[in-house]
Amino acid sequence: MSHSTNPTNTPPSTPAPSNFIRQIIEADLAAAKHARRRWSGQPGPQVGAGDTAVGLDPAKIRTRFPPEPNGYLHFGHAKSICLNFGLARDYGGACHLRFDDTNPEKEEQEYVDSIIDAVRWLGFDWGQNQYFASNYFDWMYAFAEKLIEGGHAYVDSQSADEMRANRGTLTEAGKNSVFRDRSVAENIDLFRRMKAGEFADGAHILRARIDMASGNINLRDPALYRIRRATHHNTGDTWCIYPMYTFAHPIEDALENITHSICTLEFEDQRPFYDWLLARLGDAGCINLPPPQQIEFARLNLSYVVLSKRKLIQLVEEKHVAGWDDPRLPTLVGARRRGYTAAGFRRFAEMIGVSKAHQEIDYAILEACMRDDLGETAPRRIAVLDPVKLIIDNYPDGQTEECFAPNHPQKPDLGKRSVPFSRELWIEREDFVETPSKGYFRLFPGNKVRLRYGYVVECTGCEKDAAGTITAVHCTYLAETKSGTPGADSVKVKGNIHWVSAAHSLACDVRLYDRLFKVAHPGSGDRDFLDDINPESLTVITAQLEPALKDALPEQSFQFERHGYFVADRIDSKPDAPVFNRTVGLKDSWNAGK
Ligand code: ATP
Ligand code: MG
Repeated sequence: MSHSTNPTNTPPSTPAPSNFIRQIIEADLAAAKHARRRWSGQPGPQVGAGDTAVGLDPAKIRTRFPPEPNGYLHFGHAKSICLNFGLARDYGGACHLRFDDTNPEKEEQEYVDSIIDAVRWLGFDWGQNQYFASNYFDWMYAFAEKLIEGGHAYVDSQSADEMRANRGTLTEAGKNSVFRDRSVAENIDLFRRMKAGEFADGAHILRARIDMASGNINLRDPALYRIRRATHHNTGDTWCIYPMYTFAHPIEDALENITHSICTLEFEDQRPFYDWLLARLGDAGCINLPPPQQIEFARLNLSYVVLSKRKLIQLVEEKHVAGWDDPRLPTLVGARRRGYTAAGFRRFAEMIGVSKAHQEIDYAILEACMRDDLGETAPRRIAVLDPVKLIIDNYPDGQTEECFAPNHPQKPDLGKRSVPFSRELWIEREDFVETPSKGYFRLFPGNKVRLRYGYVVECTGCEKDAAGTITAVHCTYLAETKSGTPGADSVKVKGNIHWVSAAHSLACDVRLYDRLFKVAHPGSGDRDFLDDINPESLTVITAQLEPALKDALPEQSFQFERHGYFVADRIDSKPDAPVFNRTVGLKDSWNAGK
């Protein structure tokens, strides 16, 4: 864990546009809402009052990103991470990374580690504010007893079926449990015995005592604790009762002195319970006041991907993809391997903003953000992806000369590099045709083109094998036309193609990734989402690359001229033998009727 004193050390990007969450925060700051916080001397992590560890004024905002460590983070989480850490950064507050690990069954260390890596990779730092909800089990238990003492909770011993039957429906009130009026003493006794392991799983639950007739079903005496004999990844077998998420989460927020608890819209109906619980715990002196405020926003829905953890797990476990970090998956580890950038995600999060309205974002917008970021940062290189030989018949055999290609045409200060030129080159197969259609300006017999950064050549013909496949293209070069020399423009041509010298090039595996699903809404209607998998989402080719690419470091991104952005695979690249992944094309070819 890093111990930076700046909890969110990301450099501010362009000022974020305002949104309804920012307006709430600004109003709270103007009213000094949290500066008036009463400190109860609560148990739990004392991250608020006098908290010099993170050098933070208790009046400042605190947000949190609270993943459940039961899967890898995906693009939807990136929206939440950028939002929560971005707010803390912009308002000089802190954002906590909290593992919401109250469910003993599905959580694993592997996921904890991957979440830490992913949030850090996105460019955020939580300083010392890393917490595990399971470390609060003692406080949760103590608070539950406080609720019982105040008459706000009771042990219910109905069967699961009875409880379901008595819950009522959207139009019909529920019925009170016959156990609802147990005395405080009896409830405390039963609850302690639940904790002590005297009862079988499911024999009793602890419920809030609110209102079985409430129009909001979530307020019909929701469950707070259940008996569950399961080994927890952090607390082992210490507990055989576990708090329900809806009970645990507000307590986690309150113990950490969160000011704004930002979550997705499906929790809107839970907000009355969130507020009810914290008001009772406030009255009982258990937490600092005012309590955190829950604010909901619309989750990210993105076309052409699935963001459900269940579906992502299925894709991995059934091996439709090569693992959690498969570059086609919308996981952050996958994106990283694909060559998507953290800055691209931050750009995307700012561009889509936050709102309460359900929104679906076109995948092309995410790709455009990656393209924009890479366009600024990625050096240019030359790669021939579908190679065919070009033989320059009047160029001396065995001769090599240097041509110079700019590393970034918009950034001359990044300089030029030398690329070798010789008699035999690799060019793209599609840059030659025997019979051109109208508007085709590249190589065909009798036509002249510029070999980019090199010479103008005139095409003289081609060779074919028995099957009629073109095996080599022939041309002659015009010696006075070398780029960068006074005669460069003496011959005007319309076509300009890229090439690499065959004697110097690096043959290399390149993985052409495409969208994993062939339709915008995988599995919509009655279809199985697996039936919408794009069978052409991965093609592996052997490309011919300019020799400088031999030195590519794992995770280094380049623009391959005329092709798009490619990254050296961070796992499979070896010293002097990189493997490249296509990140994104230069243009939105998918929507252009590809
Ligand atoms: P689960 O169904 O397992 O709860 P989840 O996607 O909600 O899945 P969490 O680990 O609970 O996963 O999510 C952590 C945080 O990320 C939560 O605050 C959640 O609201 C937010 N989040 C999850 N999915 C999205 C999404 N698609 N868009 C924005 N935020 C999201
Ligand atoms: Mg969740």
